Amino acid sequence: MAVSDCIFCQIAAGTAACAEIYRDNATLAFMDINPANDGHCLVIPKAHFENALEMPPALFGTLASAAAKVARAVNEVLRPGGISLVQANGEAAGQSVIHVHIHVLPRRAGDGLLLNWSREGGDEGRFDPHRITGIAERLRSRLNA
Ligand code: AMP
Ligand code: ZN
Repeated sequence: MAVSDCIFCQIAAGTAACAEIYRDNATLAFMDINPANDGHCLVIPKAHFENALEMPPALFGTLASAAAKVARAVNEVLRPGGISLVQANGEAAGQSVIHVHIHVLPRRAGDGLLLNWSREGGDEGRFDPHRITGIAERLRSRLNA
């Protein structure tokens, strides 16, 4: 697959839309389009690497640092019961977008969330684009304060 066909590279380049919440020199964070729970967002390196095994370990450290910062904001803004940081490498691990990313996944007790949750949307409230962009605005404010 050409890098130009990668949806996360397109988001990093600004040629595909996203609800962006954070950006620094090397990383970018935006809301997941099909959230497993309210506040589910993704942190990616701007540069294309397929997964954590293909990138310089120090850059993964930079990515993890950004994910920790985003997770802190999610925790402060949404006050979920907990947060899972999830990161899949390879299709067998559940990776569906082949540009390395860390899921920041708010959790609540008994949410029954499985690691291989459905990546498809539905008509439940959390999939509403306005709800997603509303949460994005709150997180953006916190991250850029
Ligand atoms: P994974 O299955 O671990 O590779 O996670 C990929 C995630 O990317 C899924 O949770 C998708 O909902 C999300 N996703 C795919 N395309 C987009 C997009 N254009 N904008 C935001 N999130 C996306
Ligand atoms: Zn990419």
